Amino acid sequence: MSRQKVNPLRVLFVTSEAFPLIKTGGLADVSGSLPAALREMGHDVRLLIPGYRQVTEKLQNARQLLQIEQLPMVGSVGLLAGEMPGTGVPVMAILAPQLYEREGGPYLDAKGREWLDNPLRFGILSLVAATLGRKDSPLADWIPDIVHVNDWQSGLTPAFMRHSGAPCAKSVLSIHNLAFQGNCAEEWVGKLGLPHHAYHINGLEYYGQLSFLKAGVYYADSITTVSPTYAAEIQTPDFGFGMEGLLTNRSKDIHGILNGIDTNEWNPATDPHLAHPYDENSLDEKIRIKQALQEHLGLTQDADAPLLGMVSRLTHQKGLDLVLECAKPLLADGCQLALLGGGEPMLEHSFWHLALEYPQQVSVNIGYNEPLSHQIMAGADIFLMPSRFEPCGLNQMYGLRYGTPPVVRRPGGLADSVQDTNPASLRDGSANGFVFDLANASELLAAIRHALACYRNKPEWRQIQQNGMHCDLSWKHSAEAYQGVYQSLL
Ligand code: ADP
Repeated sequence: MSRQKVNPLRVLFVTSEAFPLIKTGGLADVSGSLPAALREMGHDVRLLIPGYRQVTEKLQNARQLLQIEQLPMVGSVGLLAGEMPGTGVPVMAILAPQLYEREGGPYLDAKGREWLDNPLRFGILSLVAATLGRKDSPLADWIPDIVHVNDWQSGLTPAFMRHSGAPCAKSVLSIHNLAFQGNCAEEWVGKLGLPHHAYHINGLEYYGQLSFLKAGVYYADSITTVSPTYAAEIQTPDFGFGMEGLLTNRSKDIHGILNGIDTNEWNPATDPHLAHPYDENSLDEKIRIKQALQEHLGLTQDADAPLLGMVSRLTHQKGLDLVLECAKPLLADGCQLALLGGGEPMLEHSFWHLALEYPQQVSVNIGYNEPLSHQIMAGADIFLMPSRFEPCGLNQMYGLRYGTPPVVRRPGGLADSVQDTNPASLRDGSANGFVFDLANASELLAAIRHALACYRNKPEWRQIQQNGMHCDLSWKHSAEAYQGVYQSLL
């Protein structure tokens, strides 16, 4: 069947992080790869991102594009045009050193506290996006058909467009995590130049505050979220973080599209961070990576000791406190644990203590480390992801791709990407990991022990690994689904 021919669209993709320019989590991975996949389909996609120092330093062929004038509180900002390293996707970075060029991360200072002026920093991102989305945009030779915004950081864009009084592009909001809403004091409505009459339950207001994400949910022409299961979950009180009512009202405009992964960046056969490349036919090489990892992390060098890997933000969402709860029986069974992550101090300290108590079996690296994340993904035998909620989750997919079967809880994208191992799924070739239901340590322990039993049955384990490695995790299907959403608006 020949693919239907579609007209190329102009899409402004607005994001607060994009790999490889700057990354704190999955949003960066999506922003790095979805625009590239859409461009491969013939669409003219351009990224808009704050000009953090990391961004302006890494942009290729950077050149000044134009100034955008008369913005509230900051006056004017510059736009720097350049290209994404690797994919060549065109990028526009907002030059406003007073907002974006700071020590620390995109959202938090070096001590982990939110920047107090985040409403301004991301209000300006949203307003610049809305300005470029107008039919009378200052970028006259590139008027987008679609402005695609992501999470709360660009969530005000559809509100700015709606209240601009000008004809504008259609807007799509993608929700990558409903837990982060960008709520702030009402005074920001006026400071950011939004009309006061819009500060209303049917508008910008959310429980007595201005909410960037709520504004996006209310005003966007279409809403997507990053897995079909999460699209249903966010319309329920358990996962809706208070927005389930509004989301249910918009039900017919919500599309759940499972993320893909960058299969070039995450490819064990070509991964530059691995000393020994491998694929599904040379899985024995994985043992050599495991041994190198054990050595590097100071763990006992034992090819038979099951090595359980974790790479994660350390927050309640990710459920790694459950791993702490069942760590001792696992260590008594002879397992090793390797954690890379950072976040809540309580969790960091608890893992540190465990590592101090069991230095030869537990390795804890606090911080962000791209090469080590690849090495853990490849060198671990089993990947742990017991999230309480998980809009999509990418790490479980990296685990599948690297022949490191994941143990996951069932919510969101985990349910949509991991198939529990049981006699039926082993028979039909879909078994690729281990899934448990309730967020408690005994269920997690049982799921890990199930994985360990399979791990000891080498032919069965090999089949589970290969089933995961054969999954099509590329962006192709997802990018086609986004294209469908765009077209439905035009
Ligand atoms: P989330 O976006 O909720 O943090 P995802 O699983 O969707 O979770 O994506 C997390 C991404 O961030 C993955 O690419 C993962 O490898 C990466 N990551 C998380 N923590 C670290 C870390 N400490 N060092 C390196 N990469 C990390």
